[in-house]
Amino acid sequence: MRVAIFGTGYVGLVTGTCLAEVGHDVVCVDIDQAKVDGLGQGIIPIYEPGLEPMVKANHAAGRLAFTTEAASAIAHGQVVFIAVGTPPDEDGSADLQYVLAVARTIGRHLAQPAVVVNKSTVPVGTADKVRAAIAAELAARGVEIAFDVVSNPEFLKEGDAVADCMRPDRIVIGADNPDAVAVLRRLYAPFNRNRDRVVEMDVRSAELTKYAANAMLATKISFMNEIANIAERVGADIEQVRQGIGSDPRIGWHFIYPGAGYGGSCFPKDVQALARTAAQHGHQAQLLNAVEAVNDGQKGHLFELIQRHYDRGEDEGVRGKTFAVWGLAFKPNTDDMRAAPSRRLLAQLWEAGATVRVFDPEAMHEARRVFGERADLVFCETAYEALEGADALAVITEWKQFRSPDFARLRQTLGDAVVFDGRNIYDPQEIEAAGLAYYGIGRGRSLHA
Ligand code: NAD
Repeated sequence: MRVAIFGTGYVGLVTGTCLAEVGHDVVCVDIDQAKVDGLGQGIIPIYEPGLEPMVKANHAAGRLAFTTEAASAIAHGQVVFIAVGTPPDEDGSADLQYVLAVARTIGRHLAQPAVVVNKSTVPVGTADKVRAAIAAELAARGVEIAFDVVSNPEFLKEGDAVADCMRPDRIVIGADNPDAVAVLRRLYAPFNRNRDRVVEMDVRSAELTKYAANAMLATKISFMNEIANIAERVGADIEQVRQGIGSDPRIGWHFIYPGAGYGGSCFPKDVQALARTAAQHGHQAQLLNAVEAVNDGQKGHLFELIQRHYDRGEDEGVRGKTFAVWGLAFKPNTDDMRAAPSRRLLAQLWEAGATVRVFDPEAMHEARRVFGERADLVFCETAYEALEGADALAVITEWKQFRSPDFARLRQTLGDAVVFDGRNIYDPQEIEAAGLAYYGIGRGRSLHA
């Protein structure tokens, strides 16, 4: 099938590439000329495991094209996806300006019937706004062309996006026209062979499903961080508690890891946007507001542990100290630093007068873009280089390569021989046996050490 995709970011590029991989003819449109030029030359703007060879192969095979020209892409697409960003507005609601700009563009150029698919995460009612925007442009042109607007929210996980796209758990299709559902079923048939993953529903339910999924996962994380904060105070170890509750199949093992808070482009903005939607409809979403508040507090927790450590002794506190920071991306296997807890930690360390030496396996270029050059920030080539001249280590992203460091080398290198583990990836006994002081999240023994 012929497909056009607006937005060549984490969602649009992965979706377009996976659709091309199964034989569809895909044109990806973006307004970012540099990004489009780069993609045409095989330069992938994001880090996503497995993506680069697929983009190159499908581009070379002529099934995946990149352009800034909306008109030709719309002329190409039987199915036109909207996969542009929906960042938070000032009041936390989803900013629909990019989605509606694409809708107007579609209306200005549509020349044959098409199914318009909303893949961006958008508040309930957005499909109606997209439909109205397209219809208004068609009316202004004085033409009548049949089109459908379908909600098809995306559930891929950054860091695992290609696998999620090639083997989706479910394909939610919200539509009010069975013909449009049939078109999407044909499009997704190659991903849907061994069992039916399509969940059909009405448009509004599909829009809400995406927010409900993210809000549920964010709730699990904030719940666990809440329990971790209790564990820290009562002298319990959250990691033992996690083992104790995860084995209950009603609770399960996923998303019950305590840590430095969730970040990324989805959970923070989607939880806020859903709470905002609720408020706009006269409902105060107390739980969602609490989930976000707990997460906001948690992002500052590692720094609290750092302060607590340094305020205990005769030291002058954090001022003048140098911290090695391992990890900057909001989670492993991505270079995405949107709303990453590392950003809060670095801001707090700088505010307190510390210098940081940072290393992330994939997010260094993004870090340079986000932070720029500054005297109290040193970009390092390796994790061990970040330790040189540092007093302490803070781990904030649980990349696999950080999991088994040479603790003796850490002990020798770090001036104050202390590790702040924002993801609980180390065994406190092992690290303390190496002569290092250890702080984790919710590991009560840290407070009582
Ligand atoms: P992104 O910021 O990585 O990419 C958005 C792209 O859209 C950018 O390249 C931008 O230049 C482009 N764009 C903006 N206006 C445009 C226009 N008028 N025409 C063409 N291109 C335009 O965003 P993302 O992370 O891919 O997210 C896209 C949507 O998908 C959001 O609503 C997000 O909430 C949702 N989503 C994201 C993820 C994720 O893990 N990132 C997962 C599921 C859903």
